[in-house]
Amino acid sequence: MNRIQLSYSPYNLILKYPFTISTYSRTTTPVVLVEIHYNGYIGYGEASLPQYLGETQESVISFLKQVDLGQFSDLTAIDEILTYVDYIAIGNTAAKASIDIALHDLVGKMAGKAWHEIWNLNPENTPNTTYTIGIDTDDIVKKKTTEVSSDFKILKVKLGGNDDKRMIEVIRSVTDLPLAIDANQGWKDRSEALEMVHWLKEQGVVLIEQPMLKTDLEGSAWLTAHSPLPIFADESVQRLADMEKIKGAFSGINIKLMKCTGMNEAYKMINIAPSMGFDVMLGCMTETSCAISAASQLSPAVNFADLDGALLITNDCFRGTTIKNGKIILNNLPGIGVNKV
Ligand code: MG
Repeated sequence: MNRIQLSYSPYNLILKYPFTISTYSRTTTPVVLVEIHYNGYIGYGEASLPQYLGETQESVISFLKQVDLGQFSDLTAIDEILTYVDYIAIGNTAAKASIDIALHDLVGKMAGKAWHEIWNLNPENTPNTTYTIGIDTDDIVKKKTTEVSSDFKILKVKLGGNDDKRMIEVIRSVTDLPLAIDANQGWKDRSEALEMVHWLKEQGVVLIEQPMLKTDLEGSAWLTAHSPLPIFADESVQRLADMEKIKGAFSGINIKLMKCTGMNEAYKMINIAPSMGFDVMLGCMTETSCAISAASQLSPAVNFADLDGALLITNDCFRGTTIKNGKIILNNLPGIGVNKV
């Protein structure tokens, strides 16, 4: 019999460097690895759980225990299955994403096709990914930037720390690469934020992510209207339903599988974004090549990518999408394009 079997196990990602943003610092990221077995095929999925998002390995496993895929006779009915999963409980977006990714991998493998192929996205059109430089001491920032600047075409810099200008000056002392800025809600005053944006533009910055508090949509709308650079929402936008609420307050959105419940909803968000005036960045948490490869399937359809998550860890247990000279390289494997290492 073709019994559907869902299994999962906790795993801890070890970071190459402590990761510091404006609000906290960490050295590991807990994840839960998921497998859906069906008819000789295995679909792989992952929930990545940085602590500030509120989900834990325990909460993911307790969510997954409630998922009964055995009631579905047609696993290609992805929308129907994921609607059922979404209604099990509110929140739990990373847990939901782990099912979404594993299901996409499984269904793609059953069809013998990669998801970029199913979605008719040209693998040649993948964007360059940014590589993230976190807030750190001058020496570490300099060392990290020097290490990676020849391998990437654009860097992402975390600001919102104590001395943002100094951080940029340190980076500029070792590279001329274009920079994307992520302030992680760190700027409190809109006029000061605008001054900073003008200064950053002079420093070769090409976009600003989440400058102000996620709830300060009025401040963000003002900044977006006056800013010479595109202003992207990250913390202010989680799922498809949030897009309407932030319309006009930002010129772009950062879509992450762990926030939006996975590939199915991310695809819908990407498709509706232009009609709402949004450019799209595809982002990630620290993740293995499983979730990164899943997101990469969508990358030919977006303006910017920040899919460096698997490069930041020392114990990646998947092989999938790679990065070459800063560009995302999709393979031709079916599903999300991964093999377990
Ligand atoms: Mg961000």
